[in-house]
Amino acid sequence: MSKTAIVTGGSRGIGRAVCIRLAKDGYNIVFNYNSNEEQANITLEEIEKQGVQARAFRLNIKESENCAELVKQTADTFGTVDVLVNNAGITRDGLLMRMKDEDFADVIDTNLSGAFYMLRAVSKYMMKQRHGSIINMSSIVGVNGNAGQVNYAASKAGIIGMTKSAARELAARNIRVNAVAPGMIETDMTAVLPENVREQMLAQIPLKEIGKPEDIANTVAFFASEDSRYITGQVLLVDGGMS
Ligand code: NAP
Repeated sequence: MSKTAIVTGGSRGIGRAVCIRLAKDGYNIVFNYNSNEEQANITLEEIEKQGVQARAFRLNIKESENCAELVKQTADTFGTVDVLVNNAGITRDGLLMRMKDEDFADVIDTNLSGAFYMLRAVSKYMMKQRHGSIINMSSIVGVNGNAGQVNYAASKAGIIGMTKSAARELAARNIRVNAVAPGMIETDMTAVLPENVREQMLAQIPLKEIGKPEDIANTVAFFASEDSRYITGQVLLVDGGMS
């Protein structure tokens, strides 16, 4: 029987690499994005080249009911939801003293609440199936903190707590929940950083290279697969040795 994975934020960056990698591993892919239809179509084409089925939905992850509907439609179409990758995320950086309420709320609502809505919705199906693997995208910033990112760090640390709690709650039904915490990865999110900041960060990476989206996708594929069948509740830092 074919396998199905849901990936949030699949139009660009790490999410796109995850979609393509899981498609190579034989999963049908359902992904969502916020607004970038052109990029989403590129991801769709890349997935279909791997010979599996793909569906893309323009869906704001902050909307709980739409998240539930996405999962329902996936289960109705493909009959199973084997993997969820909670990847969609944003930054709204700024110093603590000047950070606006809406910048704090936007990041928490997108990165943390959005992941919760998806986690809750897939759990219902995975519990009935008695199997599943959920992979949540945290960040090195959620582990170590970072000046100028209290909102983002809070959301990514929250992801870790949510991962560990859900792992305990769902283990009896053979559902594993793990987190991947990337260091600095070459995507649109990091492309906006000034050159001097990039150089400072690069100097802190023992492997002397900014990571590629595929480095994270490979780790997600491991957590999705049976190769990690005895691992749950873990946070794996994929950061070139930075931490
Ligand atoms: P990215 O290139 O900026 O892509 C973000 C993705 O999330 C896009 O597909 C975007 O859709 C989607 N998205 C954003 N807000 C959304 C919303 N409200 N509803 C639905 N989809 C939404 O980001 P990335 O660098 O690949 O990061 C992916 C994940 O890895 C994030 O959770 C990020 O925090 C985490 N991470 C990244 C790094 C890094 O160095 N890049 C490091 C640590 C952790 P649109 O294209 O439509 O906007």
